[in-house]
Amino acid sequence: MVATVTHVEVREYMNNVYENVKKRDPHETEFLQAVQMLFEALVPVFSENPSYMESGLLERFVEPERLITFQVPWIDDEGIVQVNRGFRVQFNGAIGPYKGGIRFHPSVNASIIKFLGFQQTIKNALTGQAMGGGKGGADFDPKGKSDLEIMRFCQSYMTELSKYIGPNLDVPAGDIGVGPREIGYMFGQYKRLRGQFEAGVFTGKPIDFGGSIGRTEATGYGAIYFVEQLLQDRGESLKGSKVIISGSGNVSIYAMEKAIKLGARIVACSDSSGYVYDENGLSLKSIKQIKLAESGRIKEYVKTHPEAKFNKNSAGIWSVPCELAIPCATQNEMDAASARRLVKNGVKVIAEGANMPCTPEAIKIFHDNDVLFGPAQAVNAGGVAVSYLEMAQNSARVAWSFERVDEELQKIMETIYRNCMNASEQYGEPGNFVLGASIVGFERIAKAMLMQGVI
Ligand code: NDP
Repeated sequence: MVATVTHVEVREYMNNVYENVKKRDPHETEFLQAVQMLFEALVPVFSENPSYMESGLLERFVEPERLITFQVPWIDDEGIVQVNRGFRVQFNGAIGPYKGGIRFHPSVNASIIKFLGFQQTIKNALTGQAMGGGKGGADFDPKGKSDLEIMRFCQSYMTELSKYIGPNLDVPAGDIGVGPREIGYMFGQYKRLRGQFEAGVFTGKPIDFGGSIGRTEATGYGAIYFVEQLLQDRGESLKGSKVIISGSGNVSIYAMEKAIKLGARIVACSDSSGYVYDENGLSLKSIKQIKLAESGRIKEYVKTHPEAKFNKNSAGIWSVPCELAIPCATQNEMDAASARRLVKNGVKVIAEGANMPCTPEAIKIFHDNDVLFGPAQAVNAGGVAVSYLEMAQNSARVAWSFERVDEELQKIMETIYRNCMNASEQYGEPGNFVLGASIVGFERIAKAMLMQGVI
């Protein structure tokens, strides 16, 4: 057996695996994009470990262990029966129970759920905790629905999903369109169906029945802890920097909160109908009031802040000059043209708060122009890491303080940063966090898969 194989040979092998994935599901563009991005980053590690190629590891890794698709019927306020499509992917359970959020959004389909579950698997491994990867959702649009409609939908979704989840099997959480309210309704239905209070079956629960303090803030805060570590390592900090954060949902708002606490100025944020901009810094209090309390639109910001400007092209946010850009809205929200504009305007750091918000072309532009780039699997791992702490608290029947959760989160984000940095150095591309995150996450799973055998 040869000790190493060339990058060319590895690429040829990976290309074959990729072509088979593509042949099976040619229309799953987001999933194929995620597979291609991971393969590219894993070339050096496969080159040094030819046994990975011989064991069919990659072929197994790209095929979800289970993909569940189901009908979600529900009755709207007019008494009309509506039908949506529900999903749960249990991607890889080599290192622990499947874990990953549930997304309610009209764009949800098998491709979106599979790309999210695939990347979640790497992310969960990167945290160092014992979690496999999963993801779920439905093509249901919560916008404009009454509270009762949301409740009926959540109950119907859980009536089916409850057959496939459990505290030691698969533990969902929230994502786009799913917050503590939806989790409360789903948890309530699960409890009724099981006849037991199994707190550990869900994370992101309201604090009143088993949720962890600090989970709401965790993804956004964690993203900023990662960025601060990255800057500190280079003798810099967020203090006084100009930052753009897209979106104005859970991840975005708490990323803004922590960045402001560390002295940054947030000059722009957005929602799906446009972005607001103020060179002197946006008021987070007003944004929270609009988006959290009233579920309003971001354009309302200019009503109380006439000094700010509203632009109805959401993607235009990337033309605002800044030093740091943190996309926290959705997949592929930042393309090559946006990346070029950011580079031209002198951006220094891009950190992905959302999942796969930057296209591969955009990432290449950042790498080619020495812009520091933090990929989602590392940057937004704080959410799932605190979910794991929620599971730990539920098992021990204890509730930690905010300070303790936050301290753990900081430690986890620093470790993730350090591990990615070390791996990028070890494989000859210091500062390439896409490479670092992919290698650290994949190697942990690969070792577990090899030790557990096939069949
Ligand atoms: P939310 O639903 O709370 O917020 C999403 C925000 O993005 C909303 O403000 C939404 O606006 C906005 N948005 C959606 N599409 C666009 C667009 N094309 N352009 C601009 N803004 C847009 O979701 P989360 O904050 O929970 O999730 C955001 C991202 O972070 C997702 O990729 C998610 O998978 C990822 N993530 C979330 C975690 C969590 O703990 N919540 C953990 C790890 C990753 P509108 O109101 O108009 O729809």
